[in-house]
Amino acid sequence: MRRTAYIYTDEYARFEYGETHPLKPYRLKLTHALIESYGLLALPACRVVETVPATRAELETFHTPEYLDVLEAADLGLYRPDYAAYGLGPGDNPIFPGMYRWSQLCAGGTLQAARLVASGEVDVAFHSAGGLHHGMPDRASGFCYINDPVLAIGELVRQGYRVAYIDIDVHHGDGVQAAFYDTDRVLTISLHESGRYLFPGTGFPQEIGEGKGRGYAVNLPFPPGMDDALYLEGFLAIVPPLVAAYQPDIVFTQLGVDAFHDDPLAHGNLTTAGFLRVLEVLKALARRWVATGGGGYNLANVARAWTLAWGVMNDVEVPDPLPEAVRPLLARQGYHGQTLRDRPLEQPVSPRQRQEVAEAIAYLKRHVFPLHGLPST
Ligand SMILES: [Zn+2]
Repeated sequence: MRRTAYIYTDEYARFEYGETHPLKPYRLKLTHALIESYGLLALPACRVVETVPATRAELETFHTPEYLDVLEAADLGLYRPDYAAYGLGPGDNPIFPGMYRWSQLCAGGTLQAARLVASGEVDVAFHSAGGLHHGMPDRASGFCYINDPVLAIGELVRQGYRVAYIDIDVHHGDGVQAAFYDTDRVLTISLHESGRYLFPGTGFPQEIGEGKGRGYAVNLPFPPGMDDALYLEGFLAIVPPLVAAYQPDIVFTQLGVDAFHDDPLAHGNLTTAGFLRVLEVLKALARRWVATGGGGYNLANVARAWTLAWGVMNDVEVPDPLPEAVRPLLARQGYHGQTLRDRPLEQPVSPRQRQEVAEAIAYLKRHVFPLHGLPST
């Protein structure tokens, strides 16, 4: 039986990016409520760990002191003429009260998850508030002020571990890729909707790393509208062989659920069935597993998908009927179904969409696979 840790604090839900901002910290509380209502925090091999905020010194292992000063000033509501230079202001990365504390918590929880797995205290640790993969050393980007995956993976690398980072968020994991672009100590694999259609506009197959890191950055873009079958085809062609060849000590996954069919920010057509298949494969690859959340802007989807993910991490088949107590909470978010899992989606992909993915797979097999001793066809 796998020993698992779930890192959480109710404090997350007290933060607000703004009334009209799509990222709602409340989704973490909703997820927590659903997981708890299924009794999945009382499993014998599971422990619940209260999030501890990251320290300034921990944040400085990736972010510049200058940028952290700016974040602190913004949190306090101080006037500065240069916020925009750090990605802050109206729009994606608003200035809101508590934003520094929020960032400390998001970073701290993922560091805890990584350390719990590294020390061998648990085999799997899940921090739903983490996965803020767009944060850059000196600026905020894409709703992310602090890049918790980079901080946590950096900690694992300093402890001597080889890490495979797998990012299934619908957006390219650009911040994490950039941080480890020139090293072979971290294999980054991002599957996402193509940068031709979606923020941040990067993540093409041709981005494969540089110097010692050549072949250790991997990108599989999908056209808008990819469904479970097409997504799985790409995922299975690329992820298992590369991770098996790389032989990581620890697998780190960013489990964004914004590739789902009714997410408001992107154009994917995934359902819980495809997500579960992906999770099962990840579990098989990850004997030691650090997992975070990520994007997800349909709050009911977030809660349902991450509850299923937590079930997989604990080897539990979560019953499909939703517990009565949480149905009103999900209904308030527009979900009126009675089940945890989605119904199958009838939205076939076109030959052209298929072709686009086949070409990306072929490119990776030709240019990246040989660097890992894998066949190029
Ligand atoms: Zn995203």
